[in-house]
Amino acid sequence: MTRSPDPQASAPVTDDDIRAQARQALERGDFAWIEHRLAEGEVDLVSLTENLRIYQAELEVQNAELREAQARAERMAQRYSTLFSAMPLAQLVIDGAGLILDANEQANALFGLRQRHLRHHFLQRLLAKGEHDRLVDTLAQARITAANASAELRFIAIDGRIFGGELHLAPLAVPEDEPAQFICAVVDLTEHLRQEEILRRSEEKLDFLAHHDPLTDLPNRVLLADRLRQGIRRARRRSGGMALLFIDLDRFKVVNDSLGHAVGDELLRAAASRMAGQLRATDTLARVGGDEFVVLLEDADCARRAQTVAGKLLEVLEKPFFIKHQELFITASIGISLYPGDGEDADALLRHADLAMYRAKSLGRNGAEFYHAEMTADVDAHLELGNALRGALTRDEFVLHYQPQVELQTGRLRGAEALVRWRHPRQGLVEPARFIPIAEELGIIVEIGGWVLEAACAQLARWRALGLSIPRMAVNLVAQQIEREGFVDRVEEILARHDIEPGQIEFEVTESMIMHQAERGIASLSALRTMGSGVSVDDFGTGYSSLGYLHRLPINQLKIDRSFVSELDAQPDDAIIVRAIIALGRSLGLEVVAEGIETEAQARFLKNEGCRVGQGYLFGRPLPAEDFLTRYG
Ligand code: C2E
Ligand code: MG
Ligand code: MG
Repeated sequence: MTRSPDPQASAPVTDDDIRAQARQALERGDFAWIEHRLAEGEVDLVSLTENLRIYQAELEVQNAELREAQARAERMAQRYSTLFSAMPLAQLVIDGAGLILDANEQANALFGLRQRHLRHHFLQRLLAKGEHDRLVDTLAQARITAANASAELRFIAIDGRIFGGELHLAPLAVPEDEPAQFICAVVDLTEHLRQEEILRRSEEKLDFLAHHDPLTDLPNRVLLADRLRQGIRRARRRSGGMALLFIDLDRFKVVNDSLGHAVGDELLRAAASRMAGQLRATDTLARVGGDEFVVLLEDADCARRAQTVAGKLLEVLEKPFFIKHQELFITASIGISLYPGDGEDADALLRHADLAMYRAKSLGRNGAEFYHAEMTADVDAHLELGNALRGALTRDEFVLHYQPQVELQTGRLRGAEALVRWRHPRQGLVEPARFIPIAEELGIIVEIGGWVLEAACAQLARWRALGLSIPRMAVNLVAQQIEREGFVDRVEEILARHDIEPGQIEFEVTESMIMHQAERGIASLSALRTMGSGVSVDDFGTGYSSLGYLHRLPINQLKIDRSFVSELDAQPDDAIIVRAIIALGRSLGLEVVAEGIETEAQARFLKNEGCRVGQGYLFGRPLPAEDFLTRYG
């Protein structure tokens, strides 16, 4: 700023001085000074005018710059206000204490407030309980570092809705003597969190699917293997034990094939839930295959508990299932292996329990067996036998023996039962109990069964030609035979070829087999009955017949199982059972045959109770055809 020179005191010395002073006077608007100098002739007009022009040009430049700066500031303000109001983001301006100085519409909407409400309140009021300290910390951080800060907080809207959000703070530039200000944005994370939750749940679901069986929701093989490994580790640490039960439903395939998969699935679910009901929360029940389940027990006294649990499982499975308006019967075979005795690792334990399960199956199903080391050797023998069995039919290695059936009152020959044997090239005569289950497993029982019927009919015809007339010939059947399409046609064809009356043949089916028989098998039996043949329930009393069902079956004879007969003298209970079976047979109009009679006392008891026909060593062992002829011809 130029001080106004005294026109008198400081007279200009040079031209330059005069020009500078004249310019300053002009700037001051001190025209009196100019007039005075012009009048004195100290300043010439030309240079003065020149100076004024320069001065004016400078002023114009300054003005233009100012205008431009102003326009820039306006544009910035415009941008800021657009950012603040038009973006889909809740924004606030607050001071250092959290007081809201400004809020955009989005912020008001987010919190369910109108503008005048949000302004002049504290941001703290928009936070859920327990979040204040975090806000204070974040504000302090932004102030101290003079940089952005953010925090994930729980906010509360006016209607009480609590939601997760992200708070971003940025310090605003303010004059030094003014209090701090922050612009902040609140990002509603509700949707984000929801998506995250969906993702988490679907990940959980995937994880569940990877480790569970979708039908029963039980752990699958993968999870079982995991639990097994953990169990082994735990057992090792505390020198404890563990038991593995391998459960296979007997003849489930028949249900599935004949009643359809929907019924099969339903049955599996029902069986699984019954089994689960017998277990503790710490036990594992897994489904490891179509009709295969595994139970893992960790217990101090696991052998005993395994035995108990196996018993309970068999018991609950045996009870009828009601599925889609049908009464279904199913049993299971269970194999048990123990840690550490039967295997040190998961694989060995599973394999051995599986082996023991097979043993339970071959022992007639519906039972439980503990693993024994010999079973491994047995498997080899079993495999070997199976291999040899495949070619046995073509090598003509089967032979029938015939056991007499007599009328208990008269001792007269009433018939014979055809019983198959296998002349093994090295092992000699193999009993049916050893190879029939293998033949069933290998699926070659149908061919063998066909051969048996053929051979029995041929024998009847031969005997007939020799003058020996056998009123009845009993032939045993397995489930696979009667379930096979065309079975009855095949029977008819064989009988016709040998000129045998259908009434001369009595087909024996075991009780457990007929009780679990599906429609097609029952239809086959009905057709046999219609043809005039007999249908007898073998080994009666060992199964779990539903009497209501029995009464509807196409049968004409019950064969009391030999276990009841052999115990007749020793066990009074069995006397009651035998009596009851005879009475039952009579009331259902069925003939009753007793098998396994070995003593006169047994024969007498049965005769007195009204049993008409008997079979057993007392009357004769199964004999080759020639011997039978010699004896009865
Ligand atoms: P099953 O049909 O109950 O046949 C009776 C079994 O009891 C026969 O055994 C017979 O030898 C035996 N037995 C007869 N009387 C007595 C006795 O007084 N005391 C004792 N302890 N046992 C006696 P086998 O011939 O070893 O046959 C066993 C089972 O094999 C048969 O039981 C039957 O279920 C099955 N089987 C035999 N042949 C055939 C066949 O051709 N086809 C089919 N599917 N199964 C057959
Ligand atoms: Mg029989
Ligand atoms: Mg029998």
